[in-house]
Amino acid sequence: MLAPWTGGTGTRHASAVLTIDLEAISRNYRLLAERVGPGVTCAGVVKADAYGLGADRVAPTLYWAGCRTFFVAHLDEALDLQTHLPRDVAIYVLNGLPSGGERDCVEAGIVPVLNSREQLQAWSDQARQRGRILPAVVQVDSGMSRLGMSPREIADLAGNDTSVLDIQVVMSHLACADTPEHPANAHQLAAFQTLAKRFPGARKSFANSSGIFLGRNYHHDLVRPGAALYGLNPNPAQCNPMLPVVRLTAQVIQTREIEADAHVGYGWNFKATKPTRLATLAIGYADGLQRAFGNGGAVYFRGRRLAIAGRVSMDSLTVDLGDLPPGMLARGSQVEIIGGHQSLDALAATAGTIGYEMLTSLGQRYERIYSDEIDVRWTARSGGTVR
Ligand SMILES: *Cc1c(COP(=O)(O)O)cnc(C)c1O
Repeated sequence: MLAPWTGGTGTRHASAVLTIDLEAISRNYRLLAERVGPGVTCAGVVKADAYGLGADRVAPTLYWAGCRTFFVAHLDEALDLQTHLPRDVAIYVLNGLPSGGERDCVEAGIVPVLNSREQLQAWSDQARQRGRILPAVVQVDSGMSRLGMSPREIADLAGNDTSVLDIQVVMSHLACADTPEHPANAHQLAAFQTLAKRFPGARKSFANSSGIFLGRNYHHDLVRPGAALYGLNPNPAQCNPMLPVVRLTAQVIQTREIEADAHVGYGWNFKATKPTRLATLAIGYADGLQRAFGNGGAVYFRGRRLAIAGRVSMDSLTVDLGDLPPGMLARGSQVEIIGGHQSLDALAATAGTIGYEMLTSLGQRYERIYSDEIDVRWTARSGGTVR
């Protein structure tokens, strides 16, 4: 179905492996589409290179799962995305119409989200110059105060302002959707429904991943999940209904035993209270494992938890092997950072961040394996220590 990925240059000797399960992304898409039902379009949000996972691989996967509507943040992302997708898709640019970007937008057939009066004006001017009706999405601010036209701007719109535009979708974004009991949700929903009345012919779009789980009232005509497609939990108070997508392992590059009272790492932040066996892994904050993981973070090896000892360095971190039987782990062993024992959400929480930030911070030095090649490439690897 998809051409085999031949591997990026510069990762032939990589010692950390990021595995991305495209089949799980596809199934997550279908889970969400089924959840909203046949009357509602399920889009795919692939901004920031599909949350760091590679839009060139993720977007075609979503396409084959049935997705025909894509959202990115930047016009440049949209132009790039087009080269990876068939023509029968709609691509919307969430951050809006960049000034000077009107021509590229029209010529590439990309639809801007109009977030302000100025953007609406610029897009209408473009339509008049070309003597044609141009498609658009209008974003209204229902209470997040981030992007979109304010209720006042909407009220002040004259009929003529939008006469040369085909406003396909009116959208808004939820600020607190991951906290279902938060009063902001109902408040924003009511505001959105009122503001959307100004665009009677447009389809309505309101819910991100978490919004989908707030119930039918929040779905409207078009939902915009991102995070849930990539396996993040859309409703953190409950069990994750999505399939995990990402697995991350790092290789042990050195082991040692230190005496009681010896120190580990920058700042001598860790002090051994007894003779301690350590392993150093080839992964660090330059790979997206922030320094904050040093405080209480852990990795897993054959189901056992190994606590991070001391600070995370740029290119490595050191773990305490604790009571792991001697000989079980050696140089070359692959240790689980994200996987069956530690979800992306759980890992992010240990560093006081969220899965979104974790995903989009993952570095460029990993060997990336996509699911359609997992079997081939994992069996080809020696060791096979990841379970
Ligand atoms: C990023 C984004 C989404 C997707 O949100 P998730 O929480 O990842 O599902 C949807 N809509 C807008 C406007 C966004 O910026």
